[in-house]
Amino acid sequence: MAQILDGARVRDAILDKCKPRVAALPRPPGLAVVLVGHNPASEIYVRNKVKACADLGIHSETLSPPDSVSTGELLEIVEGLNRRPEIDGILVQMPLPPQVDGKQVLLAIQPGKDVDGFHPCNMGNLVTGRPGPKSCTPAGIIRLLQHYRIRIAGRKAVVVGRSDIVGKPMAMLLLHENATVTICHSKTRDLAAVCRQGDILVGALGRPAALTADFIQPGAVVVDVGINRIADREEAARLFRDSKEKLDAFDRKGSVLVGDVHPLDVAARASAYTPVPGGVGPLTIAMLMLNTVESAERRLA
Ligand code: NAP
Repeated sequence: MAQILDGARVRDAILDKCKPRVAALPRPPGLAVVLVGHNPASEIYVRNKVKACADLGIHSETLSPPDSVSTGELLEIVEGLNRRPEIDGILVQMPLPPQVDGKQVLLAIQPGKDVDGFHPCNMGNLVTGRPGPKSCTPAGIIRLLQHYRIRIAGRKAVVVGRSDIVGKPMAMLLLHENATVTICHSKTRDLAAVCRQGDILVGALGRPAALTADFIQPGAVVVDVGINRIADREEAARLFRDSKEKLDAFDRKGSVLVGDVHPLDVAARASAYTPVPGGVGPLTIAMLMLNTVESAERRLA
């Protein structure tokens, strides 16, 4: 039986360690979230982040400019937050409307307040092994592997996906843990054969259940970053091979979540894996909280 790597447990452990650090600060850490317009998914993410702050005693505020906001107006908002001493973290919720130059906005965030770890300065810190906020999802995955005492050093790690927020920082963090890392992308030839070399396989390609049995070395540790909502019942039935439990869940909710790794194949081939939901998902907000606490500690030191 493959071991299930429970992200909620690791999230709770991370948050428990944050609590005394928050209490030890002379003032609550402050997180500002910029949420543009009314994207339902973004609204849910932001609500969850605000709730996590409240639970930990972190001050949070949400700024909600309209969908029609310009790059210049967003830059002014970010500059205002950069100047406020009680704000330790600034997060601009993605995606932004098409008229906004997202790269310019992210570049405007003071690197010391960039709790998402997306600023090129912090990417540089990550590459060169210097302290600084690290991209939350990959940093959470390293915590998860460490929590479960999964050996990384000396093993072959294959990361599928090379985005700035997941794939690249994930590969870099695995490298820092002394794995031998291969990064795959949409132009990789014979992806399945490359993936099968991975003692550790990280799926972050954004394609529902794309990494099937063929892609998984027997006994590999598999981390599934993908979150894909399947709203088509036939597709759900095909993916879950008519599992009654999953289809009942689909009928109750009208959709089902799957990762980028095939949910049944991974359970059959891997020695350990993160489920979807409940694997990587819970770690991201926990690491955002940790980045905010660490930013406050650095700024108040
Ligand atoms: P992204 O920006 O769309 O990047 C996807 C990457 O996968 C790209 O590098 C792309 O290659 C590669 N790719 C796409 N199709 C491929 C294929 N058929 N074969 C090989 N590589 C392929 O996505 P992302 O933001 O990194 O997110 C990846 C997944 O993680 C998504 O499902 C997202 O929802 C999920 N996610 C989850 C969390 C969480 O908290 N759990 C956080 C962030 C993201 P190219 O570069 O060649 O185009």
